[in-house]
Amino acid sequence: KMFNDYALSENMLQIIHQLGFKKPTEIQHEVIPQSFSKRSIIGQSQTGSGKTHAYLIPLFEQIDTTDSSVQKIVIAPTRELAIQIFDEVKKIIHLADDQVEWNARLVIGGTDKSRELQKMKNQPHLIVGTPGRILDFMKEQAIKTASVNTVVLDEADLTIDLGLINEVDQILYRLKEDIQTMIFSATIPKGLQPLLKRYLNHPLHIEV
Ligand code: AMP
Repeated sequence: KMFNDYALSENMLQIIHQLGFKKPTEIQHEVIPQSFSKRSIIGQSQTGSGKTHAYLIPLFEQIDTTDSSVQKIVIAPTRELAIQIFDEVKKIIHLADDQVEWNARLVIGGTDKSRELQKMKNQPHLIVGTPGRILDFMKEQAIKTASVNTVVLDEADLTIDLGLINEVDQILYRLKEDIQTMIFSATIPKGLQPLLKRYLNHPLHIEV
């Protein structure tokens, strides 16, 4: 198993090299090649498995930099987790080839909302955030949903435990029907089933 096997761009292989990743983890080996098929994915794996890069690598690879609209959304149940994911996003952007202009933004509660709304006049390619604030910004039309083609829900089990699944449902409801949805969770609790049924069309179930 090698990152070279996945038809990644030279830019991405260089980023991975600079991150110090020698070879893909199990979940990366399953998710990265499959994600290019645009099929929706349920990924069952623990924290520490490398799941963040399992979705971030294909997400970045599929950004169309000629289109300055929101294309990818990563939803995390807590601010802390969203910040952690965004730190990885920033590292990737920092290591990218100078020719590649990726824009990403963190959208979480507890920040100056009017300032954040102002910044949204320039739409980023990728948003990482928590359900409440993302939904809020969608309702305000500050996040335009028409060009979103991939959405990731990380730690879906915690999202249910924290009572945030309703907000996630409302976010998914606002997105186009045929987009790629990736849901990561250590377990697949009963409370997640309605959402999986409603929004994931013949998903690929990956368990490592
Ligand atoms: P995660 O499960 O996404 O929280 O990742 C756990 C840790 O593994 C993070 O510190 C990642 O930077 C690191 N990591 C992710 N993928 C790889 C890889 N292929 N090789 C080595 N480390 C990795």
